[in-house]
Amino acid sequence: MSVLQTLQERSKNTCELCASTEGLTQYILPPSLNENVDNSILVCKTCLDQIEGHVEMDVNHWRCLNDSMWNEHVAVQILSWRMLQRLRHEGWPKDLLDMMYLDDDALVLARATGEHEDEANKIIHRDSNGVVLEAGDSVVLIKDLKVKGSSMVAKQGTAVRNIRLDHENAEYIEGKVDGQNIVIITKFVKKT
Ligand SMILES: [Zn+2]
Repeated sequence: MSVLQTLQERSKNTCELCASTEGLTQYILPPSLNENVDNSILVCKTCLDQIEGHVEMDVNHWRCLNDSMWNEHVAVQILSWRMLQRLRHEGWPKDLLDMMYLDDDALVLARATGEHEDEANKIIHRDSNGVVLEAGDSVVLIKDLKVKGSSMVAKQGTAVRNIRLDHENAEYIEGKVDGQNIVIITKFVKKT
């Protein structure tokens, strides 16, 4: 039995992402060089065109990932993971990703195409009003903040100049208050 036939059989001739029965083809997970059942997925033309970037992403179409991410075949899980990553700035795909589990080998392959690190999803720090914060900006505290690990309280209205950004976490910035470097949560500051 060919790879395509195996895919058709396991999927009962439906797109393994959205369950459509129209225009089905075999998709080989990049960057694989050889086709085999473990790195192939049966997808419809609607899915394929968006996967390959020929047309704009139709966010609502990809609600189907809610089901496909739980598919028993790892290749389908990986492709679902990649599409969720592309869409994760929409919010709900991020929630699905948080629920998803891929083992280490699958995760390495899933990340191979870099979908998880595209521009739209860079870590962006925003203040309490949603204004983008950059390193070197000045902010004021909008409430009294206890400083972790000390008895110090940074008072509401305190100005913090020349902030630094935590590059791992969009919720944290650092800055000096009373000569002491402290970590501040972005939702408690306002850019000045
Ligand atoms: Zn499809």
